[in-house]
Amino acid sequence: MTGMLVGMSELSTKLAHMVNGARHLLFPPGCLFCRKALDESDGCCPDCLQEILIWPASTCLRCGSMLPLALAPGPCGHCLHHPPAQQQTHSLYQYHGPVRDAILNWKLAGQDGGVRWLLQAAVPSLKQLITPDDLLLPIPAPLSRMRKSGQHHAANLCRWLATSTGSRMEWRLLRRIGEQPRQSALSGVARRKNLCKAFGLCDDYPSITQALSPHARLWIVDDIFTTGSTAHYAARAAIKTKLPVHVLTLARTQHQGS
Ligand SMILES: [Zn+2]
Ligand SMILES: [Zn+2]
Repeated sequence: MTGMLVGMSELSTKLAHMVNGARHLLFPPGCLFCRKALDESDGCCPDCLQEILIWPASTCLRCGSMLPLALAPGPCGHCLHHPPAQQQTHSLYQYHGPVRDAILNWKLAGQDGGVRWLLQAAVPSLKQLITPDDLLLPIPAPLSRMRKSGQHHAANLCRWLATSTGSRMEWRLLRRIGEQPRQSALSGVARRKNLCKAFGLCDDYPSITQALSPHARLWIVDDIFTTGSTAHYAARAAIKTKLPVHVLTLARTQHQGS
């Protein structure tokens, strides 16, 4: 009987190799970013790898903007006078080239291979930032947009981040209030006005926050950081919990519009 089981497991291993071999013949592994065929299936070709820019470690800790090494961790000139509501801001990548393509593919075409590769590559840095005590809060999207796309991208990001860092996500705590027009269609001033009252906490938020560890921090998670208005107003709602509030985005534009 044991011999038969060993034989069967050898057979299924051989079968798996055969299926994988056939799959590679039919669909050679391609770069997840530019689709170019690859010899090894590590997901990213050398050209794209060179174009993927990590958001530098030398930043203003408060707002996350780039700073010369000698001035990091800030505060930067802007934060000296107008700091955002969050205590810290971190981004993983610059919104550029293959990173931008991967995010657009994910959001517009539902193809998440590139984004998953980017998150996997960032796991060592993520583990240094986020601890298992922390709670991840996806930036809530307006209901009309979620109905239209059927997806909540920030919530999906939180789910992946929670799995790789051992932390938890909580989608109920931070809420969107009312309906607002799409942020991307608005200027910086209009964005801020639009977002000023866009976020709130759920009514029973104390029951959620009181159950957390005394070391817990809240992380507001979004896909792209542009002017910082969305993060600031979401953080302004979240600081009512009296917990430290940090912001994490997958990518960040170099645009300083706020
Ligand atoms: Zn490529
Ligand atoms: Zn700053």
